Amino acid sequence: MPLSPPPSTILITGSGVFGLSTALALTQNPTYARTRILLLDRSPFPAPDGASIDSSRIIRADYSDRAYAALASAAQRAWRETALGADGRYAESGLVLVAKRGELGEAYVRGSLENVRALDADHGAEEEVQELSDRESIEKVVGTGGGSGDWGYVNRGSGWADAEAGMRYLWQRVQDTGRVEFIHAEVTQLVREGKKKVIGVRVKDGSVLKADLVVLAAGAWTGGLVDLRGRATATGQVLTYVDLTAAEQERLSRMPVLLNMTTGLFIIPPKNRVLKVARHAYGYLNPTRIRDPDDRRRRSDGSLISVSLPRTAVDDPKLWVPREGEDACRAALREMIPWLADRPFARSRLCWYSDTPRGDFLITYHPEFENLFIATGGSGHGYKFLPVIGECIVKCISGECPEEFKDKWAWPKDPVEDVVTQDGSRGGRPGLILEQELRKGSRL
Ligand SMILES: Cc1cc2nc3c(=O)[nH]c(=O)nc-3n(C[C@H](O)[C@H](O)[C@H](O)COP(=O)(O)OP(=O)(O)OC[C@H]3O[C@@H](n4cnc5c(N)ncnc54)[C@H](O)[C@@H]3O)c2cc1C
Repeated sequence: MPLSPPPSTILITGSGVFGLSTALALTQNPTYARTRILLLDRSPFPAPDGASIDSSRIIRADYSDRAYAALASAAQRAWRETALGADGRYAESGLVLVAKRGELGEAYVRGSLENVRALDADHGAEEEVQELSDRESIEKVVGTGGGSGDWGYVNRGSGWADAEAGMRYLWQRVQDTGRVEFIHAEVTQLVREGKKKVIGVRVKDGSVLKADLVVLAAGAWTGGLVDLRGRATATGQVLTYVDLTAAEQERLSRMPVLLNMTTGLFIIPPKNRVLKVARHAYGYLNPTRIRDPDDRRRRSDGSLISVSLPRTAVDDPKLWVPREGEDACRAALREMIPWLADRPFARSRLCWYSDTPRGDFLITYHPEFENLFIATGGSGHGYKFLPVIGECIVKCISGECPEEFKDKWAWPKDPVEDVVTQDGSRGGRPGLILEQELRKGSRL
């Protein structure tokens, strides 16, 4: 329930897209003009393993769901038309969205095509979208000598952002308000008064920071601070990077983003002579035994529960993606840009989604704990909303969640057995366990 009067202190855990944009939106909302705003992160900004920090993220309104398509379209306009997208932070390269006919992903692409056509008709930009009815026409538009899938479309109004640069820009805007206190500290648990009332957080050195409202926006780590089992889980996604020469980058400078919704594999045009090949998939789980953060069952075993939590290069600097994932990226590179087929991957990364069963964000008050708000569940598609999601989150904090997202972002009453995102956009196999896949083979 929204607090009345407005909280005198709001503490946000996590300075990714969800946390940082919330901080900015709070500074812009007169209701919170007198509120002290604290923004905590376990890493100095920009968090090297945060989902929001990377060389690139796709910016598209190409969604099979109408509400997300409309919100993404508003975000896309901000990327295109405001300073956020200037100075190379946003590139409208076009997006080729494909699938294999009759297989997983085709329905998503068809729904998405319908939605972007309707959005473009509203804006008088019908010519931006063109259906690609066979592999030949896909390859022609991609222009790299390769392609993927056998049906899809190109949307010339979509593109990609330099993710880290976008976050740095927003961070500076937040700094410039002079309203937000950035604190480098790792939250270890919520602090409660009695069983239900959250009064702050405890950080790694044992000290306690108090607040009237705690917002958990810790991305894929959120499930370590509050029990999200059956509602959200961390899944590890595979990223690989190829170093290019200046001439090779130039050769690819006009390529669109290419995303195959059947396999989840995609390539984003290069920048700074680095090309990214990655997979939007069900991902790997990293089951971890932790103390029940909700502390409900007081058992002699210390109430241990198992949740999937991120394992990143910050925890383990030698971490390299499992062979299974690297092979999938290799196959994509071979297919999509054949002349780079055997170029070694210079780097790889596991990046963690906060996944929910339907790919909906989780932006809601916790139903049991007072003064606790959750803003996570990015489900692998949250970055593009950087210019608009903070305002949505603050509306939800104020009890004015946008009508079309009220149900989607609410706390699901019934947890599912295993969270597997079934929004029709994922490739790969569900349920892979990171440790097992690493044991089967990895470069390091
Ligand atoms: C590989 C990959 C590809 C993606 N591609 C796209 C794309 O093309 N387009 C798109 O729109 N979206 C994409 N996404 C999704 C998008 O990046 C995420 O939805 C979004 O960045 C999530 O933001 P967040 O703030 O929830 O999480 P994060 O950015 O992960 O932020 C969470 C923050 O919390 C901090 N934290 C964690 N635990 C603690 C703690 N205990 N105490 C203090 N701080 C803590 C972390 O350090 C981190 O900075 C992709 C994501 C990944 C991983």
